[in-house]
Amino acid sequence: MTPQGKMLIGREAASGSSKPIHAVNPATGEQLAPTYAGGTQAEVERACELAEAAFATYRETTLEQRAAFLDTVASEIEAIGDELIERAIAETGLPRARLEGERGRTCGQLRLFASVVRAGEWLDLRLDPALPEREPMPRADLRQRHIPLGPVAVFGASNFPLAFSVAGGDTASALAAGCPVIVKGHSAHPGTSELVGRAVQRAVEKRDLPEGTFSLLFGSGSEIGQALVADPRIQAVGFTGSRGGGTALMKTAQARPQPIPVYAEMSSINPVFLLPEALRARGAKIAEGFVASLNMGAGQFCTNPGLVIAVKGPELSAFVEAAADAVKASAAQTMLTPGIHAAYEQGVGWLSSNDKVREVARGQVGESAHPCQAGLYVTAAGDFLADTELQEEVFGATSLVIECADQHEMRQVASQLEGQLTATLQMDDADLDAAKALLPILERKAGRILANGWPTGVEVCHAMVHGGPYPATSDSRTTSVGSAAIFRFLRPVCYQALPQGLLPEALKDGNPWKVSRLVDGKREA
Ligand code: NAP
Repeated sequence: MTPQGKMLIGREAASGSSKPIHAVNPATGEQLAPTYAGGTQAEVERACELAEAAFATYRETTLEQRAAFLDTVASEIEAIGDELIERAIAETGLPRARLEGERGRTCGQLRLFASVVRAGEWLDLRLDPALPEREPMPRADLRQRHIPLGPVAVFGASNFPLAFSVAGGDTASALAAGCPVIVKGHSAHPGTSELVGRAVQRAVEKRDLPEGTFSLLFGSGSEIGQALVADPRIQAVGFTGSRGGGTALMKTAQARPQPIPVYAEMSSINPVFLLPEALRARGAKIAEGFVASLNMGAGQFCTNPGLVIAVKGPELSAFVEAAADAVKASAAQTMLTPGIHAAYEQGVGWLSSNDKVREVARGQVGESAHPCQAGLYVTAAGDFLADTELQEEVFGATSLVIECADQHEMRQVASQLEGQLTATLQMDDADLDAAKALLPILERKAGRILANGWPTGVEVCHAMVHGGPYPATSDSRTTSVGSAAIFRFLRPVCYQALPQGLLPEALKDGNPWKVSRLVDGKREA
């Protein structure tokens, strides 16, 4: 079906009465139909009421029921077919291959969470049997499991219209945990959001789940986004976007009579350290890989390599020259929204006019309405250390090379960095000692540390950490990608001396759910 310009509240399709939203094709600047009337407090109220009502039933679904629901969401998204891709191309300017890949990732992620739910490890079941004879004090029977937090508000990201939007990672992990979800769709791709939202709505109906398990709202973040986060029924928030947006939501969540966790992924410049032997042995090859990573998705990735750090010398000059040639040859790509394009132009404009920064290359000028002209800049470590503004994310295909006097200064730069999603080492065997000296610093800065790869391209798997200290995220203890993301929306409950008849099934004697449990400190088969 084509998008109808509706919000989805439980099983209803609804219209709001606040400021209308129009998607814009960023390649042409043309406005796209239909118009989405923005939601108001009334729609937030209705969605929260339904979500709260759904929670009691949804959280009690069996592992299989919940997993089957997630599988059905994936199948319903696939069943939309090419219309979803066409609409996403029109609303984001992203190429078809990228969006088809992103659809695969989105459905794969939903199915991964279905398998995680079925395995039940996330319940983290722990049983410490009673020790009535223990001296000097007997021990009561103690059993622990994880339960879902309650309804979750998810803010769709502009840069992942499928994988981090309506049925993306935040939604999939919250639904997997047993939390109803209310999505505040991103205003840049409302049609894509509605199509996916209707797929989730159909899955809710097919799996006979309560209608409030899922709702989708549109409207201004400062109005309905803030109202959602302030609503007492919302118990956690997932967000991907700007530092300003994320911190505004953190403040609202903290100011509530009952503060709640906000899992906001915000800004990261993903430092890449070029260690001396690697730079000497294969500088040109590294430059090639670097510019390919920089240009991916017009640089509109939270993992874009926005900072390169190395010791000054002929090897670094050769690297910069090779990277500059590749940047100059880079075709301009369409950026996601007029707003993101304007912010990018402002960011590169500020770098270009900064007298402590040297512009070494700009990419091709594009013909699209909102082109990203790549950029490469160089500055001295001393100037970088003296000006914290040089750490600000320029969201797009631009990177800053920091020339250090020696490895000591490289470590100084590393120590002064803000929190990051990733840190990358380009290193050879002979760089091991230099890398060992950096590693403890980088562990305190980043959620993922890579050797001889590029930070763009985040695997959805069990070991992934897509997180990091502020401002990369609002809570460095978690990840927003991979199966561990489910733990953001759970909390532990301990049951002391409860009779068998009152215990949750998963904690009863005999292990009725057949899930791995820790019994008296030992793993039960
Ligand atoms: P954004 O402006 O932070 O918006 C993201 C979402 O949050 C939108 O739905 C927005 O609503 C809402 N929002 C923004 N400010 C809010 C507030 N004060 N209170 C409540 N809700 C609020 O991000 P964006 O539109 O995606 O892109 C803008 C910039 O964010 C980019 O230029 C880039 O710098 C950064 N960004 C970073 C990443 C990353 O992964 N690091 C990803 C995407 C964007 P409305 O806009 O509908 O009002």
